[in-house]
Amino acid sequence: MVERIDTLVVGAGQAGIAMSEHLGQLGVPHLVLEKNRVAEAWRSGRWDALVANGPAWHDRFPNREHDSCGPDDFPAKEKVADYLCSYAEMVGAPIRTGIEVRRATRLPGRSGFRVETSQGVIEAQRIIAATGAFQYPVIPPLVPGDAGVTQLHSFDYRNPGQLPDGAVLVVGGGSSGAQIADELNRAGRRVFLSIGAHDRPPRAYRGRDYCWWLGVLGLWDQAALEPGREHVAIAVSGAYGGATMDFRRLASEGITLVGVTRSFENGALHFADDLAANIADGDANYLSVLDAADAYAERMGLDLPEEPEARVAWPDPDCLTDPILELDLAQEGISTILWATGFRQDFGWLEVDAFDGAGRPVHQRGVSCEPGVYFLGLPWQSRRGSTFIWGVWHDAKHVADQIAIQRSYEAYSPAEAWA
Ligand SMILES: Cc1cc2nc3c(=O)[nH]c(=O)nc-3n(C[C@H](O)[C@H](O)[C@H](O)COP(=O)(O)OP(=O)(O)OC[C@H]3O[C@@H](n4cnc5c(N)ncnc54)[C@H](O)[C@@H]3O)c2cc1C
Repeated sequence: MVERIDTLVVGAGQAGIAMSEHLGQLGVPHLVLEKNRVAEAWRSGRWDALVANGPAWHDRFPNREHDSCGPDDFPAKEKVADYLCSYAEMVGAPIRTGIEVRRATRLPGRSGFRVETSQGVIEAQRIIAATGAFQYPVIPPLVPGDAGVTQLHSFDYRNPGQLPDGAVLVVGGGSSGAQIADELNRAGRRVFLSIGAHDRPPRAYRGRDYCWWLGVLGLWDQAALEPGREHVAIAVSGAYGGATMDFRRLASEGITLVGVTRSFENGALHFADDLAANIADGDANYLSVLDAADAYAERMGLDLPEEPEARVAWPDPDCLTDPILELDLAQEGISTILWATGFRQDFGWLEVDAFDGAGRPVHQRGVSCEPGVYFLGLPWQSRRGSTFIWGVWHDAKHVADQIAIQRSYEAYSPAEAWA
């Protein structure tokens, strides 16, 4: 007997849970399959000390608050996972864990899909891929495996004690790279940090967290990425109570900054001469948020405390004025390269015509070009916030609405036979 279901959601992270809530509210029969545990990424896919990048009042679904910490605290990763698990229970999400979806193909000659799982076959009228934007770690192929240095991705990093003794080069100036470099430096490691293009909004300004500012300024809901900014990382942190990610400050605390990691030759790493430009662009982004916040506060007549000190920059460190373009691993005692260089997605299991030549989903706000196939949790699926906890909830609502609309057309039959 083949099990049949109207809508199959693949993945029970925040996207799958939000999807289930909205499908449930619209009465769409559905099932969520998860190959690991609910919210697994928040348990085993993050380093030990990670806390949410946004405060608890913000990084949540609209219908429930975090109860493990105060609203302005940054919940620890396990607490975020617990929150998502209890949310799934609250909405009665029909989740089956420990079941991997291995292949989905269109049923020949009729509507729906044949879905092969690790525990048998299911037929579904619709499939929603909620398998996450940050699935598989990407390490650029720059340093050979036999270069005599430990290499690992931020996805596999847990804590400083896990790394062999010696200095560490962290590659990537986004939130992961910056936070891990900071953690290693505080643990007494000698740290080099390779920084590319980045935004670095203030942690807070004039008494409001940047999550609030980006919200009121409409930036979380900004619909499209500006061309040319596809590879700009965001450096923010809720660690140690939350502080603005300021690379000059990190340098003053002992971290050596370098530009983009370019190549490896004869035991030495080579860096682009772009550190000053990347830092300057990050500063410009930081100041643009302050300017926009000030303008908004004035226009709205908000009575918020002035904060002129937020515009005072830390002094330029030597590594910025006299950039290092080459590092000999042995000479510097670098025993580990930690790549905080991002992730890729893999939809290899979904054998349908919903992808472009590069394997990217072709969709509009999650509704794919292949009837019956939907995506959720994609970067910029509908807005900047689409991959984040609060953003995916709104995208899930849209996808569920579209499914309900399709189901109403499918349910139609003419009152009388056509003459
Ligand atoms: C280091 C890091 C920190 C982050 N911090 C924040 C933060 O502070 N605030 C915030 O809002 N966002 C944060 N994010 C972004 C985002 O919230 C998380 O990445 C979140 O886990 C994405 O949720 P998701 O449900 O889309 O994907 P995931 O959580 O990755 O869930 C997808 C699920 O699908 C399952 N799956 C995959 N393939 C299959 C298959 N074939 N069959 C069955 N199951 C499958 C996986 O096991 C997984 O559980 C962070 C991301 C990273 C990488």
